[in-house]
Amino acid sequence: MNSIDEKDLLLKLKSNFGYDSFRLQQQKIVENILAKKDTLVIMPTGGGKSICFQLPALFFEGITLVISPLIALMKDQVDSLKANGISATYFNSSQSSEEQQSVFDAVVNKEIKLLYVAPESLPFLQNILNQNYISSIAIDEAHCISSWGHDFRPSYKQLAFLKKSLPEVPVVALTATADKATQEDILEQLAIPHATRFVSSFNRENIALEVRPANDRVTQIVKFINGRTNESGIIYCLSRKATEQLASKLNQSGIKAKAYHAGLSFEERSSIQEDFIKDDVPIICATIAFGMGIDKSNVRWVIHYNMPKNIEGYYQEIGRAGRDGLSSHALLFHSYADVIQLRQFIANTGNKDVQEAKLERMKQFSEATVCRRRILLSYFGELIEEDCGNCDVCKNPPQFFDGTLIAQKALSAIFRLKGKEAMGTVIDVLRGAQNATVLDKKYNTLKTYSVGKDISWRDWQHYMIQLVNQGLCQIAFHLNNTLQLTEFSEKVLFKGEKVRLTVPTVAKKETPAQKKEQKKKSTAKDTLFERLRKLRYQIAQEEDIAAYLVFSDATLRELEIQRPQTDEEFLVISGVGQRKLEVYGAEFMEEIKSFIKEKKKGKKDTTLETYKLYLEDFSIEEIAIQRGLKEQTIFSHLAKLYLEGKDVNLDKFIDVNTLKLIQNAKKVLNNETALKPYFEFLREEVSYEQIRIGLTILQKKSI
Ligand code: ADP
Ligand code: ZN
Repeated sequence: MNSIDEKDLLLKLKSNFGYDSFRLQQQKIVENILAKKDTLVIMPTGGGKSICFQLPALFFEGITLVISPLIALMKDQVDSLKANGISATYFNSSQSSEEQQSVFDAVVNKEIKLLYVAPESLPFLQNILNQNYISSIAIDEAHCISSWGHDFRPSYKQLAFLKKSLPEVPVVALTATADKATQEDILEQLAIPHATRFVSSFNRENIALEVRPANDRVTQIVKFINGRTNESGIIYCLSRKATEQLASKLNQSGIKAKAYHAGLSFEERSSIQEDFIKDDVPIICATIAFGMGIDKSNVRWVIHYNMPKNIEGYYQEIGRAGRDGLSSHALLFHSYADVIQLRQFIANTGNKDVQEAKLERMKQFSEATVCRRRILLSYFGELIEEDCGNCDVCKNPPQFFDGTLIAQKALSAIFRLKGKEAMGTVIDVLRGAQNATVLDKKYNTLKTYSVGKDISWRDWQHYMIQLVNQGLCQIAFHLNNTLQLTEFSEKVLFKGEKVRLTVPTVAKKETPAQKKEQKKKSTAKDTLFERLRKLRYQIAQEEDIAAYLVFSDATLRELEIQRPQTDEEFLVISGVGQRKLEVYGAEFMEEIKSFIKEKKKGKKDTTLETYKLYLEDFSIEEIAIQRGLKEQTIFSHLAKLYLEGKDVNLDKFIDVNTLKLIQNAKKVLNNETALKPYFEFLREEVSYEQIRIGLTILQKKSI
């Protein structure tokens, strides 16, 4: 076993998984496991935890037993391994006794490398739970063991017996939950106190972060989706009703989407999940129940329709995007009403103080005026050296201005209202609204009434939230969310202290170029990627597996760029291992070849089209107009046809003297082929077009 070196690891990584190099700490982890040491792996979702135990499994004599909490997860991993030609299976209590027996046989005969099982089923495996058969044990989603964690599962509690009954077998615990208390708990409960720990960075650079005010969310979402045809995404909502309403509104806008929540039957939920995994339904509007147990690697975006209640939840949910490492997007809608609603939920639960503090951090993240990724990672105890460049604040830094007068108006309105009104009414008073509340309570007689009518409602809200964040006023959540002054208000109101505010972000009008780009994006185009995606979908349907298990989006992108046409070339692509080359290679290469051929033919056709019109005696200008092309392009078609020996008379487009000048220049310039030197040599008096025609004639005549 000691003789395994880096080369062997890389070879197997490529031939079995199709990857050329390790990510993050994968290699160190694999080496640690191969040295039979207990291991704790903390890696963000999508970081690549599976390879850490799957690759060593291929080197061990016996099987690697994988404990996993959900059947859906097991099935997905087993399918993925099989697609790579690795023998793996799972055991569960719903299988018939024949099926179960064949699993045992496969273990005893050493026919499989990995066996997946839920902790509840372990008691049925007694006859194979010994060191003759088992070489390593991986415990996936290991945080389920800890009651500190958020997904506690009682059946995980008994897992300590594994280390006790198989002391020589290395145990690997894997999770995406970072917090220290959970880590300690995992090691203790699994009886592996000396496990080597590998804690990876939580930074998911490929996920762009964006927060927008929650105005007119549905319109914003429709626009967002229309710019991303055929991409998979998840929209998280706070309530079941909201998921259904949103899905139906999207459907009305011609977008294929389904709702998913805990109120649906088990069958309904499974079938929606299946549709999503198989790319049949690209978009799911879901409560947070959705996503756990889904390894789908090509989720391109995650939207939070409502604000999540803490950063852990938010980060876990956005982590479901972009597991394949390609750029992905996380969009959060921030609304003041959500914060109030979440506070009400919290008020009725246990450990209220902790939850309130967590919500406050979430709110700070949403309202940040510095790099959002910095805030996010600092929450998990990580510092980054530089601003990320991939969040909305980095891309569009807020602009500050002197907002003292605005602040004074707002604070004096709060003062006049005696701290008895919530933000909405304060803004109404500032804007001079004439609604019932204002008139009934005679607020229209106050001195501050209408002093802020030049500022829109939305902008007032934007400023008010900043005043709250700066501690200049506060929301009394226990008193109907009324706005109150604080000890700092006075300084601004009476002592001339300056207040800096940020300019509200306006939804920028799209430039014509952006609009065009958007239109191009939203009409599914005939690109090689689209063709390969369709082929992948078709194959996945036939094999009844998820499309991303055939090839990930990242692999399709590489195929699109590299366009491999031989086995050797195909194998170089990341994500292509030996088996996938054998099973899928031919079909994909055929698609690539036919795409290239079609495009070539298209090009040839276009010159022939020009030729036809030319023969019909249309002028260059007329041909250009008819074909919707530039005259320059028509000339280049004619030049090509002329060189091919077609019946094209280029001489009529150039006079004899100009041709002579060009001929002379050609001699002096030593048969130069670039046009610019001619243009300059001829003192910019002969157009590029004429030079091109002249040179073509000279070339044909070999002068
Ligand atoms: P996790 O379990 O940590 O959420 P996975 O093991 O599912 O992550 O891996 C996430 C994605 O990254 C998968 O699509 C996987 O194929 C891909 N991946 C893992 N390791 C590598 C690697 N070394 N090179 C390229 N892609 C990788
Ligand atoms: Zn940033």
